[in-house]
Amino acid sequence: MSKKSMIIIGAGLAGLSTGCYAQMNGYESKIYEHHSVPGGVAAVWKRGEFLIDGGIHFLIGHKPGTPLYDVYSEICDIESIEIEEMTSYLSFTDKTGTKSIEFSQDIEKLERDMLELAPEDEDEIRNFIKEVKSLIGSPLLTDLGMSTAPPEIRGRLDSLKEMWEMRGFLKYFRGKYSKSAGEYAEHFQNPFLKTVINWLFSPSSPIWFVIMVLATVASGQMGLFKGGCHTFVRSIEERYKSFGGQIQYRATVEKIIVEDDKAVGIVLADGTAHRADVVVSAADGRSTIFKLLGGEYIDDKIKKRYDTWKPYDPMIAVSLGVSRTFDDETPLNAFMQKEPIQLSDREVPLLFLRIFNHGDVFAPEGKSVIQVILETEWDYWANLRENKEQYDAEKEKLAQNLIDRLDEIYPGIKLQVEKIDVSTPYTTWRYTLGDRGSPMGWLMTMSTIMEQIPRTLPGLDNFYMAGHWVLPGGGVPSSIYTGRNVAQILCKREGRKFRTKLEH
Ligand SMILES: Cc1cc2nc3c(=O)[nH]c(=O)nc-3n(C[C@H](O)[C@H](O)[C@H](O)COP(=O)(O)OP(=O)(O)OC[C@H]3O[C@@H](n4cnc5c(N)ncnc54)[C@H](O)[C@@H]3O)c2cc1C
Repeated sequence: MSKKSMIIIGAGLAGLSTGCYAQMNGYESKIYEHHSVPGGVAAVWKRGEFLIDGGIHFLIGHKPGTPLYDVYSEICDIESIEIEEMTSYLSFTDKTGTKSIEFSQDIEKLERDMLELAPEDEDEIRNFIKEVKSLIGSPLLTDLGMSTAPPEIRGRLDSLKEMWEMRGFLKYFRGKYSKSAGEYAEHFQNPFLKTVINWLFSPSSPIWFVIMVLATVASGQMGLFKGGCHTFVRSIEERYKSFGGQIQYRATVEKIIVEDDKAVGIVLADGTAHRADVVVSAADGRSTIFKLLGGEYIDDKIKKRYDTWKPYDPMIAVSLGVSRTFDDETPLNAFMQKEPIQLSDREVPLLFLRIFNHGDVFAPEGKSVIQVILETEWDYWANLRENKEQYDAEKEKLAQNLIDRLDEIYPGIKLQVEKIDVSTPYTTWRYTLGDRGSPMGWLMTMSTIMEQIPRTLPGLDNFYMAGHWVLPGGGVPSSIYTGRNVAQILCKREGRKFRTKLEH
């Protein structure tokens, strides 16, 4: 029997994952990718002698012994990728530069440090730390329901299994731990600790998610790519190609061809049409549904989602190649600012700094790459980009402002800056076509994670979706799992066993 063919739109992590599982399950697949390289938002680029990593901050589940690690192993040579355990999540320094706290994986020490900092918050601190401790080593940390069957093939047993696996988590659906980090921070009296809790991840993320992040670090399951995030991406691309998968780069899909409510192919920007038995979009959700398919296959739920849900705010990253090292610094640092950073129409109270001292590929010996990351607005940068001169001037002004601020933290750094790179939400969009430059798709909230988004669209056959727009909260594991889901659904529908290995 001849193999069925599959077209996949997008070579981000979801598209590559879809491709790997398609090949394992008897499909002949080809990915069409807008950019010239794989990875989507998991991107790196060179600036002179510096390597800028503009993607994945940390990988959850980088050590063997979890279902998530097994999934990584199915699609890449995870063992050979150099990943360093993150022993500390974040260091936080107050406005005066005199008070700081490090969220290390030593939870006992963290508790002592928090108590020393804010004795008036003893009860809340002890409860918070108790929650973190209760999750250390929990299988929930490396799953969060991602491994359960997608809505299309969920049976009663799957739902029961999920309920059972998530039982330790149900307490977070109500009460104070269901609140956003911003709301929960109000439980603390100490102003510094309030800010710290608010900004540990993102003020709008549920506080249970922050608790899970800290427990993941404490469990030793958070890793940093020593060679940059592209080592992971390239390993998946390599596995896909070794399975016989094909990729065409610089191939932007303009339209999905539909005949009799069946997806039968795509049209590229160069006008060429390509046909296949199955079409999968692992590209941006909004443009897939409303542009490539002309908004023909939606229902009220989809419409409501795209009208009212909030994506993660886009980011602006100012990366600096500097002639100095940061040997003992933690990889992520937050510095509260005396005067907030003025950014488009928002004021940012802290400077969030990534230090790439966990690998030697980012800068030559004696030098480093550091990166300030700020959440920002899409509209501001997209509008500004209409006037390239003004856009460039604004980027330059922001970079200089941040360098001045860094000079107060690291005196002398101003004179050590050798390279400046500024990437805005518009940059992210230009290379990935992701809606409003979003880094992770739909913002994780209590209500969004409760919604099971199908990987299919109503009324359209032979069509599937993968990626961070079909699993709220986004991130690396969800993108990979949703690609896997597509093959699971296909196998179930075709009455075949789902395979996680290539069988010759
Ligand atoms: C700075 C940053 C830090 C992050 N940190 C973490 C982290 O620490 N941990 C974590 O788990 N997650 C993290 N994430 C999120 C995670 O990287 C993403 O959720 C995930 O990589 C998304 O993969 P995707 O394939 O779903 O989407 P994308 O990466 O957006 O891929 C979509 C692909 O489709 C292509 N495409 C789009 N439209 C078309 C078209 N019309 N034709 C052809 N191709 C098209 C794009 O070019 C792109 O390659 C981070 C993201 C960013 C930006």
